[in-house]
Amino acid sequence: MTDLVHGNPLWTAINAVPVQYPWLEKDESCEVAVVGAGLTGAMIAYQFAKAGIDTVLLAGSSIGYGSTSVSTGLLEYDAAGTLTELTEKIGSDEAVRVYEMAEAAVHKMERLAGELPDNAGFTRRDSLYYCDCPEHDGFIHEEYLKRRHTGFDVELIDRTTAKDRYSFPISSGIVSKNASAEVDPYRLTHALVAAAKQAGARIYEHSRIYNIVTDDKRQTQDQVLSSVTRHYVYANKVVIASGYDAAQFTGGLTSQSTVFAMATKPVEGFAGWEDRSILRNHDCPELYLRTTADNRVIIGGLSSSFIDGGGRIGGILSMPYLASKRYCELETHLKDMFPGIRGLSAEYDYAGAFCTTVDGLPIIGGEAEHPGWYFALCPGDNGILWANIASELLLELHKGEPSEDLALFAPCRYKPAGHAGSRKRKEARR
Ligand SMILES: Cc1cc2nc3c(=O)[nH]c(=O)nc-3n(C[C@H](O)[C@H](O)[C@H](O)COP(=O)(O)OP(=O)(O)OC[C@H]3O[C@@H](n4cnc5c(N)ncnc54)[C@H](O)[C@@H]3O)c2cc1C
Repeated sequence: MTDLVHGNPLWTAINAVPVQYPWLEKDESCEVAVVGAGLTGAMIAYQFAKAGIDTVLLAGSSIGYGSTSVSTGLLEYDAAGTLTELTEKIGSDEAVRVYEMAEAAVHKMERLAGELPDNAGFTRRDSLYYCDCPEHDGFIHEEYLKRRHTGFDVELIDRTTAKDRYSFPISSGIVSKNASAEVDPYRLTHALVAAAKQAGARIYEHSRIYNIVTDDKRQTQDQVLSSVTRHYVYANKVVIASGYDAAQFTGGLTSQSTVFAMATKPVEGFAGWEDRSILRNHDCPELYLRTTADNRVIIGGLSSSFIDGGGRIGGILSMPYLASKRYCELETHLKDMFPGIRGLSAEYDYAGAFCTTVDGLPIIGGEAEHPGWYFALCPGDNGILWANIASELLLELHKGEPSEDLALFAPCRYKPAGHAGSRKRKEARR
């Protein structure tokens, strides 16, 4: 099992566990079994149960305590990279389509949050993607034009206009109007699971699945899932939504690292931070900032090599020294950016395993090798929106109405790995 979380993540610290669910203490049978109850599994279980599909959700540990607990909770249509970068990786039409889908997913998440018993603090925000090095002004300007000509509601700001709006140095930046949002990802996961249960799904916690086989002797429900609780789940289809732990089921996930984050104590105002926009720095691409409903600031993103279960970095160095350095850097960075915000001091320091795919897109859909399985692996900075997209695409696939958008995220694009991905994606779209 991958060690997904280190330190004291904000969301699980400030929220009591809303509900505890039983373990799998008897055999179960269902049409669809969802393996993994982070935000992705929760979203899929809810959408499937709401569509009247007999669904079982299996959490390996406590619901929402995987990488969901360290997520910053940002929903940004551009978090998978700039349009320029994405175009280089997957082609122009495909990159624009991904942007459109991600932007639409923010709207869908807003509606979805509104229908849940707890809207998990869903709040619309502007976002600012900026550079502080003048050498990158050209890139920002071109990126702005691409987005504008593709129909996104964006504004270009320069050094002079930025000065009145933000207290930190900006050479140029793109403001996306009201297109982004923020949530509490832990609350959202629990709200989705509660709604899935309400819609008829059966939920089991602490019921890790250690094996899945196809039993050819069974007419239906031929997917047999073995749980550590010594019970079985018989299902027609299995959704693999086990997050970064999915290596046990598939390939395709790459570049694993550990990403650090820090949440401050609540502050009294946000001087120098126009509209509390979501901030992302092009020159330090992993660095992002948001505020929370209870007036904290979260700054995240500085990374290191992967930290293993023994707390070793790259298998050698011990974590505490590097971690305290990273937390210190985050706090200093924040204070430098916002000299006008009083009382900025760290309250929660935490870190999480981070991985992505070669093109930064999720792995969604079925593959020939495992006809009874659907994959919903939603890593990277855009995991929440990917999860929403995965839930819709898989539901359509399950109903026998596969969307051609599935080809963008096809698991087969990584077999064999490498640049064949783009060609395979194009072939799959035809
Ligand atoms: C520091 C950091 C910041 C991030 N910030 C953002 C952000 O702002 N916005 C965003 O969209 N994304 C962000 N992400 C990505 C985030 O990981 C995803 O958004 C999302 O939370 C992943 O959800 P998940 O359900 O796919 O994975 P997880 O939350 O990891 O859930 C998977 C679950 O599956 C369970 N599991 C694994 N194997 C099994 C098994 N065999 N049987 C049963 N259960 C199993 C695990 O116990 C785990 O709880 C961030 C990630 C990190 C590390």
